[in-house]
Amino acid sequence: MYILLMGPPGAGKGTQAEKLVAKFGIPQISTGDMFRAAVKEGTALGKQAKEYMDAGQLVPDSVTIGIVKERLAKADCQNGFILDGFPRTTMQADALDRTLFELAIKLDRVINITVPADELARRMTGRRICKACGSTYHVAFNPPEIINVCDKCSGDLYQREDDKEETVSKRLTVYGEQTKPLIEYYQDKGLYTEIDGRQDIEKVFDDIVRSIRGDQA
Ligand SMILES: [Zn+2]
Repeated sequence: MYILLMGPPGAGKGTQAEKLVAKFGIPQISTGDMFRAAVKEGTALGKQAKEYMDAGQLVPDSVTIGIVKERLAKADCQNGFILDGFPRTTMQADALDRTLFELAIKLDRVINITVPADELARRMTGRRICKACGSTYHVAFNPPEIINVCDKCSGDLYQREDDKEETVSKRLTVYGEQTKPLIEYYQDKGLYTEIDGRQDIEKVFDDIVRSIRGDQA
């Protein structure tokens, strides 16, 4: 089961990917996680990726494709994967096509979770993270007992650079512009399905599973 999961930042891709992992027993390949791992390890590609992410920009293809290629070649991808957050452009999609062809893999479905921009901004700018233990909160949807204090460890909560309003609106604009041709790319291949990400998490998941199995969502 080879699934490509699309959606703007804040649409809930990560959550849905986790649920797909649990249901189908295949790994989630998230560029976000791969970038963070590479940054933490201090690899050459990781250091480059960090500079772009700190500036609220998308990481360039040369860096991203290198990181993705290394990941897809690993043994745990042999029976399937959920690719989350990549590709973001038709150029990356072409690079992915070539990589998959080399690995004798054929994509089963491209799922796009869509949410209007104003709703995304509300979701993203409200995020807070504990400096000490990494627990995540949201000022509206999942607030801590005491403002800016972690319920679990009393650590200070902070807002990631990525979640600040100016960075968020910049990212959403860039994402929208870059994704439009990508949607057409996968529509032309007959692989594309759009899912309404404003629904609750379980309904979104049901729609995704139906689509993967070839039912009409
Ligand atoms: Zn904490």
